[in-house]
Amino acid sequence: MSDRVCNEVQAELPAYVDRSLSAFRRNLIALHLRRCSACQAEFSLQRDLHDGLRSLATTDDTPPDGLLESLLQHADSPRGAAPLRGAVSGAKPVYSAALLLAGAASAAGAGYASWLSAKHVRARFRR
Ligand SMILES: [Zn+2]
Repeated sequence: MSDRVCNEVQAELPAYVDRSLSAFRRNLIALHLRRCSACQAEFSLQRDLHDGLRSLATTDDTPPDGLLESLLQHADSPRGAAPLRGAVSGAKPVYSAALLLAGAASAAGAGYASWLSAKHVRARFRR
């Protein structure tokens, strides 16, 4: 077994492990691996590395594409823009919910105040 062949095989092992080689190259490498313990050892290293990288990639917990964009689009509407931006940044979601509630409460409070003043005005006219 020549070192040159081993070098070529080992150079292609990442692609072999990744299954991105042509069937012809795959067969050549598989044949060589059966006969060469040095390349076999290198192959199992590459395979472990590949599996490790893949398990890292699948534990990725970033939000799906487009989620942030759609949230930001909602945030661009005039009502509730500030609280939604806070929620998107993820800094203080509870605080953002409190802001939303405060906004609703102040709107209700304004309605209550105008109702009170109208009642007051009516009461004045009655006297
Ligand atoms: Zn070899």
